[in-house]
Amino acid sequence: MTYVVTENCINCKMQDCVEVCPVDCFYEGKNFLVINPDECIDCGVCEPECPVEAILPDTEPDVEKWVEINTKYSLEWPNITRKGAQPPDAEEWNGKPGKAALLDPNPGQGT
Ligand code: SF4
Ligand code: SF4
Repeated sequence: MTYVVTENCINCKMQDCVEVCPVDCFYEGKNFLVINPDECIDCGVCEPECPVEAILPDTEPDVEKWVEINTKYSLEWPNITRKGAQPPDAEEWNGKPGKAALLDPNPGQGT
């Protein structure tokens, strides 16, 4: 089992999650974060920290696609361990439908 970041993080990217992870397994894209499923120790600490409820265990329905996305990008994007500035319009994107199509494949800065 692992936890993964799902669609509602896209364009919200608030980064509260990265501060609590004991094994620093978050990776940063331009408008999304991912978890490396092979590094995640399934502690569950990050799940309640996400203000937009984007972090889910892979036992939830329909999360399979996000496990693949988290695995792929965690190998391409830089590690992030400290919370940076969140997008100014993060709140406006919370809960908007169809955000999966907006996932930017480019890496973020990492910290
Ligand atoms: S706290 Fe939630 S919205 Fe913010 S970066 Fe982490 S997963 Fe994304
Ligand atoms: S479940 Fe624990 S180990 Fe996995 S990403 Fe969240 S805080 Fe890190």
